[in-house]
Amino acid sequence: MTIAVIGGGLMGVSLSYFLSQAGHRVVLYEASDQIGGLAGTIRLGDVEVDRFYHIILSSDTHMQALAYELGLAGRLRFRATGSAFFHQGRLYPMTTVRDFLTFPPLRPLDRLRLGLTILAAYLHRDWRHLEEIDVERWLVRWGGRRAFQHLWRPMLRAKFDGCFEELPATYIWARLIRTRSTRRGATQQEQAGYLVGGHMTLIRAMAQAITRAGGEIRLRTPVQEVILEEGRVVGVRVDGAAEPCAAAVLTLHPPLVPRLLPGVEGPWVEDLRSWRYLGIVCVLLALDRPLTDYWTIYIADESVPFTGVIETTRYIDPADVGGYHLVYLPKYVTGDSPWLTASDGEILEAWLGHLQRMFPSFQPEGIRHARVHRERYVEPLFPRGAWRRIPPLAPPIPGLFLVNLTQIYPALTNGESLTRHARQAAVAIGKRLEA
Ligand SMILES: Cc1cc2nc3c(=O)[nH]c(=O)nc-3n(C[C@H](O)[C@H](O)[C@H](O)COP(=O)(O)OP(=O)(O)OC[C@H]3O[C@@H](n4cnc5c(N)ncnc54)[C@H](O)[C@@H]3O)c2cc1C
Repeated sequence: MTIAVIGGGLMGVSLSYFLSQAGHRVVLYEASDQIGGLAGTIRLGDVEVDRFYHIILSSDTHMQALAYELGLAGRLRFRATGSAFFHQGRLYPMTTVRDFLTFPPLRPLDRLRLGLTILAAYLHRDWRHLEEIDVERWLVRWGGRRAFQHLWRPMLRAKFDGCFEELPATYIWARLIRTRSTRRGATQQEQAGYLVGGHMTLIRAMAQAITRAGGEIRLRTPVQEVILEEGRVVGVRVDGAAEPCAAAVLTLHPPLVPRLLPGVEGPWVEDLRSWRYLGIVCVLLALDRPLTDYWTIYIADESVPFTGVIETTRYIDPADVGGYHLVYLPKYVTGDSPWLTASDGEILEAWLGHLQRMFPSFQPEGIRHARVHRERYVEPLFPRGAWRRIPPLAPPIPGLFLVNLTQIYPALTNGESLTRHARQAAVAIGKRLEA
């Protein structure tokens, strides 16, 4: 009994791994020429590096357990690191809770209220209550208008391409809970981790385990259609030909699913189409020297086109990435952003001009490689109440399963929440197939 898993990103690979470990025969179909999706790699000369930045937190216990399970414990590394905030032309460290609470643009009362906001998030238990409150109202209620204007508003505008009005307080709650878990000890110093070779090391190890268990991984093989007969799944169409399967699991982002189910309609299909996603435009620079002292700099300046400076080699040993210092300059975008269609040259010119103004010591001659990456589907957007439309694992077609990022809510989308979800989904699918 073959299970066809469609989409070879981290979700599809980990789901296939858990299914195959439970004794199912899996064929994993991936449209592109490599597995990994958003967690994939690119080559810079003879070195392979993450296309987008990926961090593992010390609290990411599932990712670490998975690495151990796959014999990769020796490739996990953790390092103390720090972040900062770029505000009105200056950098302010944001590494410890003390840094947060002494952020100069805030007055003593604002700082106290900021502390209260963080505490309120830590103590909150039922996120469904937070769905009823919009994020601005909740943040102003706990932290006051000034902290909102100087700190939260710029961060939210940056993350959501200016549109956070419909966002529930759940988002900031999930974010604060996750950030807390990076900090350790009395100084609350941040801890950041990685696998040598990136998330791709984990993905490749899972892929090997899938094939060892008798499964197949088919690259450059976009599935064109899920074939239904008498209302149930009997196969998938690939390159015009039918390939039989007992079940098809689509790990694609929901708006992409209906294309594979031509002629299938219904409220659940409409719901899939209605999901909006954040995309990303991200410049990657491989430099011959470090740029900053921080792994993340949040940018609260709306004139800067990118929304953060992520220097992964503040926690990744440069020796593990060919001696380069890797700097990612992301901008999260909605579907209509002009940056999605701008040329690489236009993006590099705008991004590098701003980087130079922010860091006068930055020397463009030190750039060894510069790449621009764009992706349309990165994170599902959850306006208030959208969780009620989360696609079910098993829609009303026998043999069809949907496993995707929306189902992770309210957790943020990352390797930890995603692999945890894939493990649970594999168990649930196995049970349904055996029933
Ligand atoms: C900028 C950025 C920073 C991030 N930072 C972190 C981090 O620090 N830590 C962390 O853990 N995570 C991080 N993530 C998140 C993580 O990379 C993603 O959430 C995860 O990789 C998503 O995996 P996915 O399988 O759901 O989707 P995708 O990676 O999008 O995979 C979907 C796959 O389906 C394939 N596909 C599409 N259509 C078809 C078809 N018809 N047939 C066959 N295949 C098809 C695609 O080619 C693709 O490979 C980050 C992501 C980004 C973009």
